[in-house]
Amino acid sequence: MKFSYKILLSCIITMAAALGIGGYFFVNNVFEASMEREMEQAADENNILQFAFETAALNIPAKYDLLQNSAVKEIGANLEKRGQGTGRLLRLSDENREILYASEGFVEDTQLLASIEEQTRAYQVIHPDEHYYIQTGAEITALDRTLYLETMRDVTAVYEERTRGFSVYRNLMLLILVVSSVIMFFISTWLTRPIRLLTKATKKMTDGDYSYRAEQVSTDEMGQLTLDFNHMAGVLEENIHQLEAEVQAREDFIAAFSHELKTPLTAVIGYADLLRSRKLDEEKHFLSANYIYTEGKRLEAMSLRLLDIIVTKRGELEPQEIDVEVLFGYLRDMYGEQKKHPFTFQYEPGRICGEVDLLKSVLLNLADNACKASDPGRPIEILGRKREEGYFFAVKDEGVGISEEDCRRITEAFYMVDKSRSRSCNGAGLGLALCSEILKLHGCSLEITSTLGKGSTFAFVIPYRTETDSAGKI
Ligand code: ADP
Repeated sequence: MKFSYKILLSCIITMAAALGIGGYFFVNNVFEASMEREMEQAADENNILQFAFETAALNIPAKYDLLQNSAVKEIGANLEKRGQGTGRLLRLSDENREILYASEGFVEDTQLLASIEEQTRAYQVIHPDEHYYIQTGAEITALDRTLYLETMRDVTAVYEERTRGFSVYRNLMLLILVVSSVIMFFISTWLTRPIRLLTKATKKMTDGDYSYRAEQVSTDEMGQLTLDFNHMAGVLEENIHQLEAEVQAREDFIAAFSHELKTPLTAVIGYADLLRSRKLDEEKHFLSANYIYTEGKRLEAMSLRLLDIIVTKRGELEPQEIDVEVLFGYLRDMYGEQKKHPFTFQYEPGRICGEVDLLKSVLLNLADNACKASDPGRPIEILGRKREEGYFFAVKDEGVGISEEDCRRITEAFYMVDKSRSRSCNGAGLGLALCSEILKLHGCSLEITSTLGKGSTFAFVIPYRTETDSAGKI
C-alpha cells in the first residue's frame, strides 16, 4: 500500500474513532441532562399529588375516624380526573401494599412498590410497551393510615430524542468523514511529494543518470533529507567518475604497456630469427646482436622503472630529515663536470623531510630529461628556495619545450612527446610517472611550465613536516 494511502487511512480511522466516541458522549450527555430534568419533574408531580391526596383526605366528611378504602379509591379517581390530558397515571396502595386504585394503563409490576421505604422516594425507568416511563413511588400519611402513592410519567420523547440525536450525528459524521477524506487525500499527496521525488531520483540514478538530483520542495525534515540525499548523490557521482577515470587510466596503461613491449620484442624476434636462419657477415652479425642487446637493455630498464612505480605506489614513506645540501651535492657530483650542458646550482640552505633516495631519483630524472631535451651547450639550472609552504625545487632548461596538451599528459605512464627521440634515449615514458608517484608520497605534485621552442621548468615544493623544517626556512 502506498505511504500516502497509509497516512490517509490512519487519519480516517483516527477521525472516525474520535468522532464516534465524541458523538456518543455528546448525545448521551444531552440525554442524561434531559432525563435528570424529567426525574425532577416526576418527583415534583409525585409531591404535588401527595399533597393533593392529603388535602383531599382531610376534606372528606368523616363518618368514622378512619379513612376507608372506598374513600381512597374516590380520591384517586378524582385526582386522575383532574390531571386528565397531562398523561399522568397514578396508583394507590394500602399499608400491606395491596393496590386500592390504579389508573388505566398503569403498569402491573409491583417491584417499585415493594421497595418504597419511609421518608424516601423511589424511582425506576420502565419500558412496559413501546413507551418509556419514570415510575415514582412515595409513602403518604392521611389521617390514621399509611398509604403508597405511585405515579408514572411518560418520557418516550426523551428516548426518541436520543435515537434521533444518534441518527443525525451518524449522518453528520459520515459527511464529515467523506469531506475530510477528500481533503486528507490532497494533504497526504502533498506531504509525500518529497518522497516521490526522492524515489524518482533513486530510479534515475539506478538507470545510470548519476547527475540527476531530487527537487527540493520543502524546508522541513523532508527538505533536509532531500538536501542530504543530493549531497550523497554528488559524492557518489564524484567517486564513480573517479573510479571510471581510474579504470580508463588502467586500460590505457595496459594498452601502452603491451605496445611498448611489442615493439622491441618484434625487433628482437626478427633479428634473432635472422641470426639463426642465415649466415651473416661479421658486421651484420654484430649489428643484429647489438640490436637485440640494446632492445633487451631497454626492456630491462622499462621493467625496472615499472617495478619502481608499482613499489612507490604501494609503499609508505619513511621520512627522514634531509639537509638540502645532500641533494644538491649529489647533483653537483653527477652533472657538475658535464661538458655537454653547463649546469648551475642556486640554492638556499635548508632542511626538509622525506626519503633521500627517492628525492634524488626525482631530481635525477628531471635533470636527465632536461639534458635530453636541450641541444648541446644549452644551460640547465637547478634551483632551491625556501618558501612559506615548503622547500621549492626547480629544474630549468632552454630545450625544445612542451606544448600545453602534452604538459597535461606528460606524467601519464608510457606517454612520450617524441616517441622516436625518447626510445633512442632508452626511454619508455615512465620517468615522470615515477616522479609523480614519489612526489605524491611526499604530499606534493609536479608543476610544469613550458613554452615550445624556449624551454621548460619542472618544479615542486616539499612541504615542511616538522618544527625544525619550518624553522629552517627563516
Ligand atoms: P622518458 O623516460 O621516456 O624520458 P618521461 O616520463 O621522463 O619519459 O618523459 C615523458 C616525455 O616528456 C618524454 O617523451 C619527453 O619527450 C618529454 N619531456 C620530459 N622532460 C622534458 C623536458 N624537460 N623538455 C621537453 N620534453 C620533456
